[in-house]
Amino acid sequence: MNIKNKLNSLSITPNKALGQNFLTDEQAIKKIVSVSDVRDFGVLEIGPGLGALTSELMKVSKKVVAVEIDVKMIDALNDLKNESEFGEKLILVHDDILKTDFAFITKELSFDFSQQYKVVGNLPYYITTPICVRLMKQHEHICQLTLMMQREAATRITAKPKSEQYGPLSIVSQYIYDTQSALELSPQAYYPQPDVFSTVITMKKRDYDIKKANMLIKITNICFAMRRKTIQNNLSNGCGKEKSQKLLSVANIPPSARAEALELEDFIRLVDAIADID
Ligand code: SAM
Repeated sequence: MNIKNKLNSLSITPNKALGQNFLTDEQAIKKIVSVSDVRDFGVLEIGPGLGALTSELMKVSKKVVAVEIDVKMIDALNDLKNESEFGEKLILVHDDILKTDFAFITKELSFDFSQQYKVVGNLPYYITTPICVRLMKQHEHICQLTLMMQREAATRITAKPKSEQYGPLSIVSQYIYDTQSALELSPQAYYPQPDVFSTVITMKKRDYDIKKANMLIKITNICFAMRRKTIQNNLSNGCGKEKSQKLLSVANIPPSARAEALELEDFIRLVDAIADID
């Protein structure tokens, strides 16, 4: 059954405010599931909608926890769960992904001591950045992400210094994950059609230091608090003038620099300086 007919039969009108653009391109669905590489892994799916990706993910993964805010979608997904031979693998969570309890998700998707799972989602575009920021904080448990987003949003993740998109999300994600573009999609791949082009990115975990990543999350937020101010100014607000001067000197960063001009390596030296001084 195609999506339009399914929506009609359930008397559901897509909710624009919730970013409901359903994927209809079968080839794209197959490709996304393939690059997600979820065999033998637990999967968190964000915004399952009517289950275009969910039904495929259920077949190949160990378990799927699907977090969806719209109760109408949850009702439809419950039917999918009851009708599918893989239904037992699906846990439906009716919740806002920006508020949901990640401890529960990690517990459900942990199959060994390393507690690693993968994330897949055709994201609701209106909250792409806050979702990514929240996911980065779960880096200890998320070994791969496959995310569909508006093309422009992906540039926040891959941005380099001195560009408008460059910020804490770029720095943190580039330290923890290797990001590749897997697929580009035009509005015709969805119903209803969005106004924008989309991209699917895969983010695979690099060899990185967990403690440094946690400090990098904190320090980049402090350094970018006021974008137009110098790093010395922002850091002073976070940890006092004297300490910030010392940190910048140990890290060999000019106090007059702006955070947006600094490379990932500069921030790593700052993180190392914090560890040395504390
Ligand atoms: N995965 C489906 C597909 O590919 O056809 C639907 C994707 S649609 C772009 C985004 C989905 O995210 C919708 O089902 C929407 O209801 C859901 N959603 C929107 N805001 C959400 C939130 N804050 N938390 C969880 N789900 C949300």
